[in-house]
Amino acid sequence: MMILWDFDRTIMDDDSDRWVVVEMGLTQIFNQLRETLPWNSLMDRMMAELHPQGKTIEDIANCLNRVRLHPQIVSAIRSAHGSVLNQLQDSRSENGKKHVIIYIGDGGGDFCPTLKLGEEDHVMPRKNFPLHHLISKSSVPIKPQVHEWMDGEELNKILLRLTDSDSAEKQTVL
Ligand SMILES: [Mg+2]
Repeated sequence: MMILWDFDRTIMDDDSDRWVVVEMGLTQIFNQLRETLPWNSLMDRMMAELHPQGKTIEDIANCLNRVRLHPQIVSAIRSAHGSVLNQLQDSRSENGKKHVIIYIGDGGGDFCPTLKLGEEDHVMPRKNFPLHHLISKSSVPIKPQVHEWMDGEELNKILLRLTDSDSAEKQTVL
């Protein structure tokens, strides 16, 4: 099993760009330019604002380290990490067997990877976010099993169920 995590609005509840803007005191200039620049150019401009202030990449990294994560998200990542590691170790002897993939995300950019998943895989779209809407309205068949989640608590429950059932299935087969 392999678990792929999106970051913004999935691992962190907020958007990391917005977080840096607010934490680094750029809200005013951000709001002034928001309507005039595309997002990537706007964020380039925000970085250009930080440089003359003597801010470094380490300052931005420290800023991102202060992101508050839902405790259940942290729990889900840690428990999934252990579970997946065990399964990867178990699978070393299973030549050529494809890993089940669980893809967790929220944004429109997560839709394309979703279409590459197979029937044995799982996608976990955040409820009422773009990925969820795109899956719901898709004219293309969605092959993986879809599991919606609202917050870290629900995400953790689903992920534990999926990783546990995979282990149980393996034990039954063995
Ligand atoms: Mg995201």
